[in-house]
Amino acid sequence: MTELELLIDFHKNALQQGPGSEEETRRAFELTGLANKKHLKVADIGCGTGNQTFTLAKLTEGEIVAVDLFPEFLEKLEDRKKVFNPIAQIKTLQAPMDQLPFEQQEFDLIWSEGAIYNMGFEAGIKAWKKFLKPKGILAVSEITWITPSRPRELEDFWNQEYPEIDLASKKIKQLEENGFILRGYFFLNPESWEKNYYQPMEERVPEFLEKHKHSDLAKEIVQYNLEEIALYRKNKDYFSYGFYIAQKHD
Ligand code: SAH
Repeated sequence: MTELELLIDFHKNALQQGPGSEEETRRAFELTGLANKKHLKVADIGCGTGNQTFTLAKLTEGEIVAVDLFPEFLEKLEDRKKVFNPIAQIKTLQAPMDQLPFEQQEFDLIWSEGAIYNMGFEAGIKAWKKFLKPKGILAVSEITWITPSRPRELEDFWNQEYPEIDLASKKIKQLEENGFILRGYFFLNPESWEKNYYQPMEERVPEFLEKHKHSDLAKEIVQYNLEEIALYRKNKDYFSYGFYIAQKHD
């Protein structure tokens, strides 16, 4: 297996592929102001195996297109759909987030949890805006500094991983400069990193290593993730995912 195949295998049996929670998806949805609107058309970009997709499906009576680059995750989402029986209609679509095959002004709501960094926050909000109807809503979570200064090792790690990491004030300014009005903003809770993401990940490690016969590549992936977890635990006061809910205007 290649490194990418192993990574997918490590993450595909998880309920979530990033930090988040049903409670926070609901909180963000409340901030959209769309709660009473029927027949919403929603895109969930970088949906993974669909945890937030199913929360959205409970909250809307519309049509949700769940998009991801990797068919393995979408297959899991399809499996979960069989036992979920949502009110909303969920369709999966395999596509890269920077080349989405959507129509202009197709959606009331574009959702994306823990995924926009794959194309970059600013590039993402610019590219996706055209798919929103006038006054449509964008709700995205993005890795964000909490404090204006941070420990050096943390800065070094993130500048390597994702140099676009910044303060919320900067992200909000980017939204404003790109034709959005902020409707709401909050940070994800440390619980949503621990209980829903890192702890289940730690629990998957022994089985994953066994399945892949303790190969060097499998051990490398585990090592990398465990280091990320340790860095998070040490520095969780300095960064989290910020959830940005913004309305298109122009
Ligand atoms: N929203 C999910 C998954 C977050 S992880 C959750 O919160 O649990 C980021 C997701 O983005 C993964 O599922 C990954 O497969 C997907 N992804 C990565 N690069 C992508 C790209 N270029 N286009 C579309 N999806 C991508």
